Amino acid sequence: MDEIAERLTAVRQRIALAAERAGRDLAEITLVGVTKTRALDEVRAAVEAGLQDLGENYAQEVRDKHKALGDRARWHFIGHLQRNKVKYVVPVCTLIHSVDSTQLAAEIGRRAAQLDKRQPILLEVNVSGEESKFGFQPGEALEAAGEISTFPGVELQGLMTMPPLSEDPETSRPYFVRLRELADEIRALNLPGLTMKHLSMGMTQDYEVAVEEGATLVRIGTAIFGPRS
Ligand SMILES: *Cc1c(COP(=O)(O)O)cnc(C)c1O
Repeated sequence: MDEIAERLTAVRQRIALAAERAGRDLAEITLVGVTKTRALDEVRAAVEAGLQDLGENYAQEVRDKHKALGDRARWHFIGHLQRNKVKYVVPVCTLIHSVDSTQLAAEIGRRAAQLDKRQPILLEVNVSGEESKFGFQPGEALEAAGEISTFPGVELQGLMTMPPLSEDPETSRPYFVRLRELADEIRALNLPGLTMKHLSMGMTQDYEVAVEEGATLVRIGTAIFGPRS
């Protein structure tokens, strides 16, 4: 478990260096530790080592892990979310990164309103256009943002993307640039109640490049917890 603390320190250092290269303020970058498939002991070790934000892909897991760890960390939902699972996620999540349809946003808003909450969300954008990926096509994102900005129970705070898997982090750079430009375009619409302050991009394979290109949330699993079995 000491290994987790050591890896976490190394990741933080690399984020700090990337921020410095880009002339960015480190305070605007949040490290989200991705806990999918990880045992509770591992997650707890990371929290004890100072990790404050955790990301989960599975609805029941986020519910159960939140129950076990309480409010010692903020939970982010980053996986594909089915509408019938929204009820597990809204009560416990700070931010839902992976909203990939207006219907899902509407259901999140409906559940949040029942809890007197306004749920912060990001739109997932399939910038690479890969068929295997969820998310809005870049050309659909502006219209979707316009529609979602009228839903009372959600607050659209930005965009999320996942570039194609690659060994070379530079492969991801153009996708990150495109996501940032898209967020700028949506921000320029000046829609009411829409902050567009977040870009959720960068994983173990490419988080330093993501920080250089403006990520405010990086989602990192393997570099903190080791390879997934
Ligand atoms: C698994 C996952 C991550 C983290 O991936 P690593 O390569 O382990 O850092 C980030 N984002 C999403 C959406 C994921 O599913």
